[in-house]
Amino acid sequence: AKAHGRNTLRFFDPQMQAAATARSVLEGDLRQGLLRQELLLYYQPVVNDQQRITGVEALVRWAHPQRGMVSPGEFIPLAEQTGLILPLGQWVLEQACAQLVQWADRPETRHLTLSVNVSARQFRHPDFVQLVLDTLSRTGANARCLQLELTESLLLTDVEDMIAKMTELRMEGLRFSLDDFGTGYSSLSYLKRLPLDQLKIDQGFVRDVLVDPNDAAIVRTILALAGSLDLAVVAEGVETEGQLDFLRQSGCRAFQGYLFGRPAPIDRLEQAQGLSLAT
Ligand code: C2E
Ligand code: CA
Ligand code: CA
Ligand code: CA
Repeated sequence: AKAHGRNTLRFFDPQMQAAATARSVLEGDLRQGLLRQELLLYYQPVVNDQQRITGVEALVRWAHPQRGMVSPGEFIPLAEQTGLILPLGQWVLEQACAQLVQWADRPETRHLTLSVNVSARQFRHPDFVQLVLDTLSRTGANARCLQLELTESLLLTDVEDMIAKMTELRMEGLRFSLDDFGTGYSSLSYLKRLPLDQLKIDQGFVRDVLVDPNDAAIVRTILALAGSLDLAVVAEGVETEGQLDFLRQSGCRAFQGYLFGRPAPIDRLEQAQGLSLAT
C-alpha cells in the first residue's frame, strides 16, 4: 500500500479506523433500532410569562439495548450523514401527530402547540411538504397545533425552495420557528423574507446572560429584531430565576428550560404540570 504514496497511509490510521468502525456499528444499530421501535419521544414544556404551559417540544431519544439512553446529539448527525434521518424524521412526525390527536380531545390540552425539530436534509427532500400533509390527514392531527423548528443551516442552500415549502405548509395552518437563532448563517435580509412565526434564542446566549455583557447585548438585540419583524421569541435553556428575570425585563415572553421542566416522557410531564397531557 505504501507504494501508492503517503496519502494512502491515512487509511491505516488506527484511530481513524476505530472511529469509522464505531460509526458503522452505531449506524447498523440505529437502522435496527428504528425497526425495533427503540426510539421514543421526550417532551419539554414551553411556558409563557405567567409560567403556564403553552406548548411542548418533542425531543427524540434512543433506548439502546446495551448503551442505555443515547442522546440525539450523538445519533442525529449520524442519521443525517447516512440518510436515516428520513425514516427517523417521519417517525417523529407521526408520533407527534398521534400525540396531538390525543390532546385534541381534552379542553385543557387542545390549545397546546407541539414543536417538532426538522433536519435540513429532511426538509430539503422534494416530497417533504407532501409527507407532512399526508401525515396530518392520515392521523387527523390539527395542522394549527403543529410547529416545525428549522435551523439556519438550511439557508446555505436553496432559499427560494425553502420559502416555497414554508409558504405552502403555512397556508395549511402550520407554523415555523427558527431554532438556535444567532449561532448560524442568517443574514437579516433572509430573516425578513422567510415566512417565520418564531425565533428561538439559542441556549448558548442564555447561559451566561448575567455574567457576559456580550451575550446580554445579543439577547436584547434578538428581542428587538424579533419585535420589529413581528416574530414571537422563545428563550431556550433557562435554568435560573436570575436568567428568567433578565429575559423578562428585556421583553421576552416565552421560555423553555430546566427551570420549568426537563424533557421527559409524556406521562411524567403530565404529572409535573398537573395536566392531563396523555390519555
Ligand atoms: P434543540 O432543538 O436545540 O433542543 C434543545 C436541547 O437543549 C435539548 O437537547 C434539550 O434537552 C436541551 N435543554 C433544554 N432545556 C435545557 C436547559 O435548561 N439547559 C440545558 N443545558 N439544556 C437544555 P437534546 O434533547 O439532547 O437534543 C439535542 C438536539 O438534537 C436538539 O437541539 C435538536 O437539534 C436535535 N433533535 C432532538 N430531537 C430531534 C428530532 O426529533 N429531529 C431532529 N432532526 N433533531 C432532533
Ligand atoms: Ca429545537
Ligand atoms: Ca435550540
Ligand atoms: Ca441546539
